[in-house]
Amino acid sequence: MKTLGIYVQVPFCQTRCTYCNFHTGVVPAARFAPYVGCVGTEMAGHKELYAAAGVTLPEEFADAVVDTIYVGGGTPSLLDPAHLGSMVAAVRENFVCELTEVTLEADPETVTEEKAAAWVGAGINRISFGVQSFCDEELKAAGRMHRRADVYRAAAILRGAGMANISFDLIAGLPKQTRKTWRDSLDALVELGPEHVSVYLLEVDEGSRLGGEILRGGKRYSAAEVPGDDEMAEFYETACWELGAAGYEHYEISNWAKPGFASRHNLKYWRREAYLGFGAGAHSFSGTERWANAHDAAGYVAAVTAGRLPVEQLERLTAEGALEEELFLGLRQLAGIDLGRIERQYGVSLDSRFARLRAAGLIEREGSLVRLAPGRVSVSNEVFVELMK
Ligand code: SF4
Repeated sequence: MKTLGIYVQVPFCQTRCTYCNFHTGVVPAARFAPYVGCVGTEMAGHKELYAAAGVTLPEEFADAVVDTIYVGGGTPSLLDPAHLGSMVAAVRENFVCELTEVTLEADPETVTEEKAAAWVGAGINRISFGVQSFCDEELKAAGRMHRRADVYRAAAILRGAGMANISFDLIAGLPKQTRKTWRDSLDALVELGPEHVSVYLLEVDEGSRLGGEILRGGKRYSAAEVPGDDEMAEFYETACWELGAAGYEHYEISNWAKPGFASRHNLKYWRREAYLGFGAGAHSFSGTERWANAHDAAGYVAAVTAGRLPVEQLERLTAEGALEEELFLGLRQLAGIDLGRIERQYGVSLDSRFARLRAAGLIEREGSLVRLAPGRVSVSNEVFVELMK
């Protein structure tokens, strides 16, 4: 049975966090309903819309079964729960579904008892919770809307509504973050006991106001108070140690889970399984092609209303590209990759490349299985660069 993940992008936020490099916008609430309507239209007409945009869906998609949905953003928890419910209902109407995991990204300040009850009623059974930090000074500097107290309030509401699978996001490297505040955030997280944890390192690039300011050596957005690279690496190592000691399994470079709670939807990305993305900026992967919808939400609504899907970056994968993805995405998983399977599938020998990495202590090998060496996970990019030489 071919399984399929569905991603729905909601590109709206209440404000713009200083570190954010996503394509999201702060727009009047009146624009939510037309957007949600277009996501439903895109799902209902996806086969024709893809064909017109040059996307080829492999034949096995005809009887694929959707087992995961992920509603991300942006801040999808901003939407009226009826809108979220209608998007989940649109998936059920347009695809054969045997849903095991339906995730909603939620920011703490948006959670109310009414919303949480409606989310559970709509079949959402997992919340990816944008905590980022438990330190108010850091949250304020980053332009976040919530504070530590909101995390406790919202977590209690979600548990009270019966949400049994919650993931917390933390960011290492926020302005004003210190060893002490990072440890405090980790301790507070462990005490609240979410089933899943994601730890991201602050990305510094021109795509965010903070990133641009850091690159220019400026001081706005507390850019001069961002921890250095060494400190950030240390924060990551502290997270590895502390989360491991608290019973979380480190299963992907940025992700930890209590036994049985690894994200089924996100595993599809790293395992190169198929998923279809709906909404502005949503990415899709059919197994042979990758494509994305245009980012601009207003342009997306205008195009879909006119009966057209604004597909960008349509790429048919070559064998070489697929092999690179296997290695790059596969090695992000701490269980590693089955080198024998990859060599057979792609008709290549990777022995010499991996022997070099093994000699340098970057990877370890157990029979046909290859994985990043313990303690080398934080330098995974170096490993990938070496591997691709
Ligand atoms: S809430 Fe998330 S998506 Fe929205 S601006 Fe902040 S970081 Fe970006």
